[in-house]
Amino acid sequence: MPAHSEPESGGPAGSGSSTAQGAQTAVAVQQTAGADPYFPEHGDPRYRVHRYELALDYRPGPNRLSGTARINAIAGRAPLAEFVLNLGDFKIGRVRVDGRQPHYTHRGGRLRVRPAKPVRAGAAFTVEVHWSGNPKPVNSPWGGLGWEELEDGALVASQPIGAPSWYPCNDRPADKASYQISITTPSAYAVVAGGRLLTRTTKASTTTWVYEQSAPTSSYLVGLSIGKYQTVLLGDPGLGGVPQHGHIPAHLLPEFSRDFARQPQMMELFQELFGPYPFDEYAVVVTEEELDVPVEAQGLSLFGANHVDGARGSERLVAHELAHQWFGNSVSIADWRHIWLNEGFAKYAEWLWSERSGGRTAQQLAAAAHRLLVSLPQDLRLADPGRKSMFDDRLYERGGLVLHAVRCALGDIAFFRMLRAWGQLHRGGTVTTAAFASHVARFATEPVDELFEAWVYGAALPPLPGAPTRAAG
Ligand SMILES: [Zn+2]
Repeated sequence: MPAHSEPESGGPAGSGSSTAQGAQTAVAVQQTAGADPYFPEHGDPRYRVHRYELALDYRPGPNRLSGTARINAIAGRAPLAEFVLNLGDFKIGRVRVDGRQPHYTHRGGRLRVRPAKPVRAGAAFTVEVHWSGNPKPVNSPWGGLGWEELEDGALVASQPIGAPSWYPCNDRPADKASYQISITTPSAYAVVAGGRLLTRTTKASTTTWVYEQSAPTSSYLVGLSIGKYQTVLLGDPGLGGVPQHGHIPAHLLPEFSRDFARQPQMMELFQELFGPYPFDEYAVVVTEEELDVPVEAQGLSLFGANHVDGARGSERLVAHELAHQWFGNSVSIADWRHIWLNEGFAKYAEWLWSERSGGRTAQQLAAAAHRLLVSLPQDLRLADPGRKSMFDDRLYERGGLVLHAVRCALGDIAFFRMLRAWGQLHRGGTVTTAAFASHVARFATEPVDELFEAWVYGAALPPLPGAPTRAAG
């Protein structure tokens, strides 16, 4: 969910330039065929990226960013006469495709590149882009997304369309790539990005941090935080567990230490229930600022100062963000219509953590969610909520209830087997609602069509599912 959410202002996604001539119109139509239904201006399905190498220089005072991107991509089934990268309002210094100068235009957040020679169908190609300017958030119905200048540093939380606020990308969740990110900034600041810190080199007054994220990563999940942090280790990595670090303003350390103390236990529980943690490490950042909601990124979650209180007041959100590493980040959605597969799963993980850590049971929490939904309009279809409702609370609660209904139908043993298989089969990949329905069917002894029809494709709220069987997970 976007860190700063605002009420939806309505209206369709930007319709783009209407001055296109014949050839461009044909291209636009071709692109629309596979474009994201909610954000047709973001992402270009005519090619895919398999690696981004970003070298950035950032000065917090003037909020000045300059960068070089080396993008390794592969053309789709048709020759690529032109392609689009999403990139915000920056000055473009240089663009190359396979070392040659292309023709390009940069308008409305879209860098449209026409290589000197079309890229052959299925061929690999490399794009180089230099850009610079003052990064600012991408406007959205949920407020600004992406790069945000803070009082003293910067933060990137892009879900769903904020990534072009700081780097050129094929901005669609299904186009997952590996990343190497190098950031040079004044040495007083710490840079936290998802992934493994390869090197940290200090020269004169600046430090260069190089992170590698080798797991396939959606553009919106590339997270970043630049600030003055103290770094602490959570749990005991000596036991062969997942390395977990916290990066916190020093004055919030006492509260943080209590609020995140049980995260290593969560990590253990979720590995038992969902399968092995999908990445090499996990980092959490608490910013000096407040955030409406915490935000997940690949191997990283970002919390606001308001999410630590020293009384575990936001522990369910600690569980929620951790669960996204499996559901949303490792197993990603093919397009934004399927967002309940991220949020419903993370919601249900909150309930599972509560149940297994001595809090209310999933059944009790499901009943509470159901009571809430009964009192609200029943016009939301999980399978395609519409752009306007993709972050609606009802989607989260009802999404959690779907998982609970499936658990009640399958029984605990088959349900958790099904969940682990889902994570394993689609690790690093992308999924849809239809794929999940057929996956569940393979673990069920009775047909689950009606369950999905009622809970996922229908709008009216079905009755609360019964108590799960007592068998151990
Ligand atoms: Zn979430």
